[in-house]
Amino acid sequence: MRCEVVAVGTELLLGQITDTNSSWIGEQLALVGIDSLRQTKVGDNLGRMVEVIGEAIDRADAVIVCGGLGPTQDDITRDAIARVMGVDLELDDGVVGRIEAMFGGRGRRMPMNNLRQAEVPVGATAIADPQPGTAPGLICPLTRPGPDGEPVEKVIYAVPGVPYEMKEIVSQAILPDLQRRAGITAVIRSRTLRTWGESESGLAEQLADRITALDRAAAAGEAHGAVTIAFLASGIEGLKVRLTAKADTAEAAAALLAAEEAEVRAVLGPDLVFGIDDQTMESVVLDLLTERGLTLGLAESLTGGLVSSRITDVPGASQAFRGSIVSYATEVKDDVLGVTVRPVVSAEAAEAMATGARRVLGADVGLALTGVAGPDEQDGERPGTVFVGLDISGAVESVRLQLPGDRLRVRQFATISALGLLRARIAAAPAGPS
Ligand code: ATP
Ligand code: MG
Repeated sequence: MRCEVVAVGTELLLGQITDTNSSWIGEQLALVGIDSLRQTKVGDNLGRMVEVIGEAIDRADAVIVCGGLGPTQDDITRDAIARVMGVDLELDDGVVGRIEAMFGGRGRRMPMNNLRQAEVPVGATAIADPQPGTAPGLICPLTRPGPDGEPVEKVIYAVPGVPYEMKEIVSQAILPDLQRRAGITAVIRSRTLRTWGESESGLAEQLADRITALDRAAAAGEAHGAVTIAFLASGIEGLKVRLTAKADTAEAAAALLAAEEAEVRAVLGPDLVFGIDDQTMESVVLDLLTERGLTLGLAESLTGGLVSSRITDVPGASQAFRGSIVSYATEVKDDVLGVTVRPVVSAEAAEAMATGARRVLGADVGLALTGVAGPDEQDGERPGTVFVGLDISGAVESVRLQLPGDRLRVRQFATISALGLLRARIAAAPAGPS
């Protein structure tokens, strides 16, 4: 089964947005065993869209078109696909009902424009499940002349451009449909180990032997050769190590993943891997604090509230999180937190801030960040210099970090580094508040 992707949107051609959708779809196609042949970008222009989609479906067995399913006049993917199929658009009553219900549910009347999103090429099916936004995905079967002129069954899919909606529809409806058409019965499952504390190349080096072993097993046709390991640098989310397994049944895939997870954890050790799948550094830290009956107070200088924003993203954070003092100005460090040492970018200041936060916020644990986000130097320290202070029930310490990158990256890395330090110390700390 050969598949092409067409990304629609003039913004893509002008470089106003980056076409991350096509990369993601290409990766998913490869994972499920569908050949990903070509990817094309085209502007919101009917003639050119018809040409590009038509050429793609003549070369391939399936084409996924993403974008241009919105309710406005420039969203013309439906029209273009209908032209390629040589059919008209018709109103799908089921889709009209669902869109009306979505608006009704939010107490709003449906604008007439949204009816456009219920138009479907004759012979096509609107994907009812999942329907994460107002625009449903489309499955549009068609026949095209093959190499000898005989008719060949093909399919065009359409998905919205909004990445979250696109991913839901592709993974839950389109990939299974493609696999069914291709006669592929394999099940693909993946698990992500979340890590912090080692670079991408460092992780790759540590796991090089393991990856070689898997490649060998794959070449020899052994069962555990159906597992692959991939690395994903994700900024503030840390570095992800994704394990993917292919098997005949979901149970077999799960067993392969569990075995490989144990192998990888044994190589990386317990400090590096902080969680799996949807667990984040902040959710893990909060779980640990709650488990030990400890509360947390923050003092943030260079991160300006980023750490507390991450913490409060987690539902139930109030169990353990007391609050944060954004002590950006020196006077606030002095007057509110009781910092008396200089310079304010130093190990001593970070420790005093942590103790101050613990006292002022009435918390068991005080965590503080001070440093130089850049681009200019401060107190003779260069950008990327960060001090993290920690006061756990009176046991005070600090760590000096030298972080790479621009202001944004320094602040993000400072955030996850500080939470990572907290995680390591709390995990090692005795249970129960002082
Ligand atoms: P909408 O109902 O929002 O109009 P749509 O299906 O018409 O959805 P577009 O208008 O093409 O989709 O894109 C909506 C938004 O989705 C864009 O503003 C952009 O932020 C994002 N987007 C679109 N295409 C891509 C792409 N190929 N890669 C990444 N993001 C994209
Ligand atoms: Mg749009």
